[in-house]
Amino acid sequence: MPLQFYNTLKREKEIFQPIEKGKVGLYTCGPTVYDYAHIGNFRTFMFEDLLKRWLLHLRYDVKHVMNITDVDDKTIKKAKQMKVSLSRITDKYTQYFMEDLKWLKMIPADIYPTATESIPKMISMIERLLEKGFAYREDDGSVYFNISSFPNYGRLTQINISEQRTGDRVMEDEYDKDVPQDFALWKGWKEEDGEVVWDAPWGRGRPGWHIECSAMSSESLGDNFDIHCGGVDNMFPHHENEIAQSQCATDQPFVNFWLHSEFLMLDGGKMSKSLGNYYRISALKELGFTAESIRYQLLAGHYRSKITFSIDKKHEGDKVVQRLSDFYTRLQKMNANESSIGSMPEAYSKFRDRMNDDLDSPQALAVFFDWMKTVNGKIDKNVITDSELGEAWEFLVAFDSVFGFIQNQDFEIPNKINLLLKKRQKARDEDNWVESDLIREQLKEKGWIVDDTTDGQNLKKV
Ligand code: AMP
Ligand code: ZN
Repeated sequence: MPLQFYNTLKREKEIFQPIEKGKVGLYTCGPTVYDYAHIGNFRTFMFEDLLKRWLLHLRYDVKHVMNITDVDDKTIKKAKQMKVSLSRITDKYTQYFMEDLKWLKMIPADIYPTATESIPKMISMIERLLEKGFAYREDDGSVYFNISSFPNYGRLTQINISEQRTGDRVMEDEYDKDVPQDFALWKGWKEEDGEVVWDAPWGRGRPGWHIECSAMSSESLGDNFDIHCGGVDNMFPHHENEIAQSQCATDQPFVNFWLHSEFLMLDGGKMSKSLGNYYRISALKELGFTAESIRYQLLAGHYRSKITFSIDKKHEGDKVVQRLSDFYTRLQKMNANESSIGSMPEAYSKFRDRMNDDLDSPQALAVFFDWMKTVNGKIDKNVITDSELGEAWEFLVAFDSVFGFIQNQDFEIPNKINLLLKKRQKARDEDNWVESDLIREQLKEKGWIVDDTTDGQNLKKV
């Protein structure tokens, strides 16, 4: 089955074709750093991690950009409440966020642009929108996007803008989907903004939330890129507005694939900071959760279905993680690694099909666990062949590079990879960069990435 995703824009599954062969530009809306991220936020970030790991497994060269929203209504409000500077708040929560990402074994993005460092790009986009007549100024120094000037407004979320009353506009970053309105690209300075202010040709102020992501995505990925993700709550107004701004500013299609993950619920209700029913990662750690068991709870459901996170499900996750770790240890003790000749068992193609079908993680996991049971059965009866053992090792390594469920694993570097690494080192010592690059490509094809550091070659699994 070819790789396909449910594209929110088309409301159907669509075969994935990257803009540039073998490469993927991926933008994921990052955290608003006014507070600790909660497990609901991490449901969305974990889905994005799965997507990225799957693309890497399929050997795509992924350029992943995740922004940090460090100026918006919420961050300013929090800094004011705490009587500290904006950066005091945003630096602190950015750092906690990065620590949580690492602890949860998420592959870091290639670039984490911050909104406050991307203001010039936002200003130039707003200038273009003003020049082209898609935006208008107000007396208070604010600039608004005129939604009726963009015929495709509402296409992503299928809203009808004929309900809009002329002149309706909204200053807030988040607002009701039932009342589509002209929205602020730039908010003229107000006393409550304090020192949070930048100069723009039309007056002092600060950017609206939506223009931040339009600017930060195109800065790193170009005006038209492959995939943009977020949670379903980002669809309106945030992503609808991003599309309007970007397409009108550049006259180009903005994003080819929009992927949105459903909500994580808690005890039957929506989880949110404002309702006070949420878990931080630190609280889950105190309850004895491991990163792997959290990963399991978050990935066992399909990303487009609501899932319920529950403390009671901890031991179910722990059991699965333990079963996998036991399987890993068992294969390791049998030196399965040495029997590997790089081929995969038949079950792998079913697993791959399930993952290619819009990341159907529950079905892919079912295929894997069924297969694991069969292999364990064969080992119990002492009827497993060497080639089956080698294939089992390959599948397990590939599986864990996608899901990250196995604890403290140390997948040994196969001999053939070590040999290539040595050959490459020799080429580098002899300044033979062509050979060195060639071997890097060979390693990549075999699922290993090599980075050159001051301490020498650094090898990691894709
Ligand atoms: P924020 O920090 O509020 O900008 O949110 C960061 C990400 O978390 C966004 O992509 C949201 O869509 C997502 N998000 C927030 N709450 C939840 C939830 N309960 N379940 C899943 N995703 C969520
Ligand atoms: Zn965004």
